[in-house]
Amino acid sequence: MISLLRFGAVLAVLCALTPASFAPAQAQADSSETVPYFTDNGFGNSLLSTNGVHHEGITYVCYQGPLEDAWVASYNHETGEWTGPFLAGVSLMGKDPTRARIDDHGQPSMVLDDAGHLHLAYGGHGGTRETGVNPLGNTHYGEQRHVVTTRPLDITEWELLDNVSPFGTYSQFIKMDNGDLYLIYRHGVHRSNWVYQLSRDNGRTFDEPVSFLKSQRNRELDAVDSWYPYFIKAPGDRIIARVDHHTCRDSPAHNGERSHGYFIQMSTRDHVWRNVKGEALPSPMTKDIMDRHAKAVDTGDDFVHGGPVALDSEGNPHFILYRTQDTKPYHGGEKTIFHYRWDGERWLENELDALPKTKVDMEVGAPNEVSLLVAGFNDENFGQVARWESTDGGATFEQGRIYYSRKGAHLRLSRPIVNAHPDARFMAARAQRSDYSYIFLLGDSGEIERDLEGASVQTDAQRAAPRFGTRN
Ligand code: ZN
Repeated sequence: MISLLRFGAVLAVLCALTPASFAPAQAQADSSETVPYFTDNGFGNSLLSTNGVHHEGITYVCYQGPLEDAWVASYNHETGEWTGPFLAGVSLMGKDPTRARIDDHGQPSMVLDDAGHLHLAYGGHGGTRETGVNPLGNTHYGEQRHVVTTRPLDITEWELLDNVSPFGTYSQFIKMDNGDLYLIYRHGVHRSNWVYQLSRDNGRTFDEPVSFLKSQRNRELDAVDSWYPYFIKAPGDRIIARVDHHTCRDSPAHNGERSHGYFIQMSTRDHVWRNVKGEALPSPMTKDIMDRHAKAVDTGDDFVHGGPVALDSEGNPHFILYRTQDTKPYHGGEKTIFHYRWDGERWLENELDALPKTKVDMEVGAPNEVSLLVAGFNDENFGQVARWESTDGGATFEQGRIYYSRKGAHLRLSRPIVNAHPDARFMAARAQRSDYSYIFLLGDSGEIERDLEGASVQTDAQRAAPRFGTRN
């Protein structure tokens, strides 16, 4: 039953449990000692959005580090050498010790332009009143910023470019095949439009923001309609998204009330948004338009949290929703994963209650071949990152390759690395007993190891004050 691949994964598990890798980072570093992570200074929810890109044998990654700043590192697959991590971009957030929580909305998104420069967008949670009047929504904290490497493919030096809106939240770069860069984000806090800004010159200038999902008052509910989308670049000239709707009530105030699953797509040739059937939709899209033309599933009274979207080999979308009937907590309680796919005529639903209750990413081959990357606890309380494979269109899944496993480990996943090397398909963050996390680069050979000294990046002051608000 244990395949060779599984056996390799089991070996990796045993290695991960050896005392050497369990040693605290501040222990005296033995120069030969290696650890399965490349840094110990991930901070808060350190991974979100598109956190990495591979190019000609080197994988470049970014994450949220101390003080909610944007950090970068790279790994050379030929030489086995790590570079960094380095501080690449300073955030306005994370610097105020009187705030009770880590904001966790300004994680960096990375893209490599066609001239070889790496870009990060980061640091935003809607801007503040000091930022000015937000014409497309409301404000809260931080400032969306854009930094770029001074030299091509050299992550040691970055410069700040003042050429994108400061009001952005959930910044995400997408590069199309012709080199055009789309910076997609919510233009403010949670009562704001979703927009994109297009650059046709490798991120040196951007067109003005274009709204495509509209936030507006819903008079029936004493609320504002708002949106939580998940975007990817699709083959050819398309950007596609799975979207859920947020009812932002006046009372109770902003919570996790999110519903339904929608699918939209845009051709970057004509910049027209369309539904799954290819019918053009007026933009920016309102709740009424989305309900009538783009709704894939009505989740009734369930709260949802949105998952990934992917296209199968026939060009039909699949997406994931996490559904819960426990609507009290901020993000709901126990969630069940649901898989949806369009078969060309209708949406099909699968409830995946056998999987660990956690977040996933997804790849799809033929319409029946659905592969989920799952981070969660198995029955023995091992935190694992594993593949779950379906060959019947998502009706049933079997566990496949295990990329990482460790008893009690709380794990979070990055999104897939763009143009990934097989040995570095994604990152995972493992929570420490603090606000910090270890960050792993994972692929078909398990974790990419690093010498302990190179991976020990936290400062003595950070180790001494490991909780937000208690540091100096
Ligand atoms: Zn809200």
